Amino acid sequence: MVFGAVYGDVIGSYYEAHCTKDADFEFHKESTFTDDSVLTAAVCRAILNDRSEISVFGVASRAKEYASQYRQYYSYHPHAGFGSMFAAWARDPYAGNVHSYGNGAAMRVVPVGYAYSTLEQTLLQAKASCIATHDHREAIIGTQAVAAAVFLARSGENKDSIRAFLEKKFRYELSVPIADIRASHVFDSRTSYSVPPAIIAFLQSSDYESAVRNAVSLGGDADTQACIAGGIAEAYYKEIPDHIRRFCDMRVDSSIRSVLNEFYEQIVYGRKNER
Ligand SMILES: [Mg+2]
Repeated sequence: MVFGAVYGDVIGSYYEAHCTKDADFEFHKESTFTDDSVLTAAVCRAILNDRSEISVFGVASRAKEYASQYRQYYSYHPHAGFGSMFAAWARDPYAGNVHSYGNGAAMRVVPVGYAYSTLEQTLLQAKASCIATHDHREAIIGTQAVAAAVFLARSGENKDSIRAFLEKKFRYELSVPIADIRASHVFDSRTSYSVPPAIIAFLQSSDYESAVRNAVSLGGDADTQACIAGGIAEAYYKEIPDHIRRFCDMRVDSSIRSVLNEFYEQIVYGRKNER
């Protein structure tokens, strides 16, 4: 399922503005879904609308379909914490690709990791989901890395093989102890700064909850890093504690929950039955 990403966003949302370095933080009552969840839902909708696979030549036209869902979902929840660059793009139907290297494309890509049958297709779709708003090599790499991590995790690969693939393919350094990163980590939503630590938060976790706690307690872009870590962690551990579901479900708009449920039924559960 893809609730792991959204729940990470919810749990991290309070700590984006109230940074913590303590993994034992409380789940704050003011937590809420943010842009990460809204656009994760948009990616689900784009995949539900068109599940066909693409070739390298189809990336640009597929990117337009993702873009139209991003604009649509922005219009549903314009006050969900979107960055000014994204908002300006979303409000202008004629805007071309934005060359951002921010982590906004990596934060919404988790559903792509569930939807396709090969790693190669997953990487192509991740790129297509990225370039309208983040047409920058660094952002594309980070987005593909998150999608690949989800794909490998849900396919039953172990952490060593997930780490080895990401290090080789994307040249990420993923063996640094999380405590060492935490010591100097700050808020910086650049992809190359924020995405590898979010992946490490998963790699050095023992279950879903500890992945999210690792990510939030980096003390950086907490909602986005927890969204990424939580998305990969759910794919890997296959379960989320009930107390987290209860805390988060009431904080996620029902329109977002319903598209995620539809994605689960049509894409994730549907695929299991095809086998
Ligand atoms: Mg956010």
